[in-house]
Amino acid sequence: MKAVIFSSKQYEKAYFHSANTQHQHDLIFIDAVLNKETISAAQGAQAIITFVTDTLSEEILGLIYNLNIRHVATRSAGYDHIDINGANQLGICIANVPEYSPHAIAEHATMLMLALNRKLLPGQHRMHDCNFSLENLTGFDMNGKTVGIIGTGKIGLICAKILHGFGCTILGYDLKPNPSATQYSVRYTNLETLCQKADIITLHLPLTTTTHGLVNQTLIAQMKPGVMLINTSRGAVVDTKAVIDALKLGQIGAFGADVYENEKNLFFKDHSGEILQDDLFARIKSFSNVILTGHQAFLTDVALKNIAETTLHNLDCWQVGKASENELTTLSVQ
Ligand code: NAD
Repeated sequence: MKAVIFSSKQYEKAYFHSANTQHQHDLIFIDAVLNKETISAAQGAQAIITFVTDTLSEEILGLIYNLNIRHVATRSAGYDHIDINGANQLGICIANVPEYSPHAIAEHATMLMLALNRKLLPGQHRMHDCNFSLENLTGFDMNGKTVGIIGTGKIGLICAKILHGFGCTILGYDLKPNPSATQYSVRYTNLETLCQKADIITLHLPLTTTTHGLVNQTLIAQMKPGVMLINTSRGAVVDTKAVIDALKLGQIGAFGADVYENEKNLFFKDHSGEILQDDLFARIKSFSNVILTGHQAFLTDVALKNIAETTLHNLDCWQVGKASENELTTLSVQ
């Protein structure tokens, strides 16, 4: 099957080439983001392979339809960048990679917790300056702390497993509690109680109309003063302005995030030679008790191998006229 890979990055190409030796698709790598100007690169293809940076709006889906393309594989777990409803109406099949490595993201979230707690970056800066003073570097034992996991699906569950190993008390909140969570002593509660009791809160929810802006001024006000907030889910689950206000007041004591609500034209590119235009981002990254990474939680060798393998499997199914088990329908959208 001829498939055009938009937003392709050097770090993933070798994994696609290697996986494709078993699948034999005709893969065309395009560095550009999928948009009105670049879509013509997909002329003559049977499928498009996208990433979270490619917005598949009603308009773009219409252009895909006009190119006679009926298959889109996103090489991501999240699919909030795709109008699934619109695609279904046009008869365009969309498939994702529902699970490539929940460990990759859960481990990244834990890394943010530990780095913030133990003041890793300030400590490292002092080392460069030969400043060996330990003043203001005091952290806390993870053992015995209460961690609230909001969203206990595949990634939230692995997070619970890791934190259970640290000896944390774990509170969970989810629309559909995960029966596997009991093995890690997760106690389910409502959002309000979780916020009141947790020393650390970590978000593992999809971005949907209900989770958009879930962590806002009102919810933050219910959290323990000095709470640590971790977001490796999607940027817009959190109201960044509300987090900034809470950091200024000390209501949030530390913030770690791998995602940012306006990351679309910012992340995944080198902007180092430019003047930063995003004032919200400039402010959030200015705090010494904030660690931000540029949507890299997924970036492990296992994850990249599995992303390539599952994406090509989705194409295999379509090539022989079968539905892939990873296809997304309006019903699967939470
Ligand atoms: P999942 O579907 O296994 O789990 C999500 C959980 O959230 C489910 O248990 C679901 O019931 C729950 N949920 C959904 N809406 C809810 C609501 N309104 N209130 C309470 N609970 C709700 O998904 P997953 O694989 O664990 O991934 C979670 C999210 O992590 C993805 O949707 C994606 O946005 C994000 N993600 C980020 C990265 C990264 O690199 N930073 C990589 C992969 C996934």
